[in-house]
Amino acid sequence: MYALRVKVSRNSGQFRRYKVDLPQQEGKFQVLYEKTCEILGKNNILLDYEDDEGDMVRLTSDVELDEALRVINSYGDGSNPLLRLGIKDKVTDSNALLNKCKSEPDTVKKDATSMQSSVSPTHEGIRCYWCSTMPIAGARFKCLVCENYDLCEKCCCAGHHDQHAMMRIADPEKTKIR
Ligand SMILES: [Zn+2]
Ligand SMILES: [Zn+2]
Repeated sequence: MYALRVKVSRNSGQFRRYKVDLPQQEGKFQVLYEKTCEILGKNNILLDYEDDEGDMVRLTSDVELDEALRVINSYGDGSNPLLRLGIKDKVTDSNALLNKCKSEPDTVKKDATSMQSSVSPTHEGIRCYWCSTMPIAGARFKCLVCENYDLCEKCCCAGHHDQHAMMRIADPEKTKIR
């Protein structure tokens, strides 16, 4: 065991200083991590330390911590080294949350769309020749003789084009035709 002095800067600009008793062998990173979580009162953090070139380097393992200790021990006369840590919140959790938030409206939208289409399909870009409703909702009736002659169900049933045979298209998704 030996005591490591740690100084943590938080995003808020606040600093905390504490000592951690590190085991000489394995598990020192875990000890440092847990102590830092305890001091800051939070979980899921990322530890970065300031290396000899002033860069923030991520710490995730004993090996990296050993390297960090080697670096800080080379400062000054090597006695009483201070490990300067920067803390970041792990983004994995908030990303997952973000994705969840993002996907929810899509799910709702998709459900609403599929519900709508099962109740009343719309024929995008198709206008009823008689009443000019566009797009035609519900069944579309396409004249088999005239080019580009469509009626909505109401107008077809009213007999507005009964001189020609009409093809009934219930759902444009199932009958792909222009
Ligand atoms: Zn119509
Ligand atoms: Zn016709």
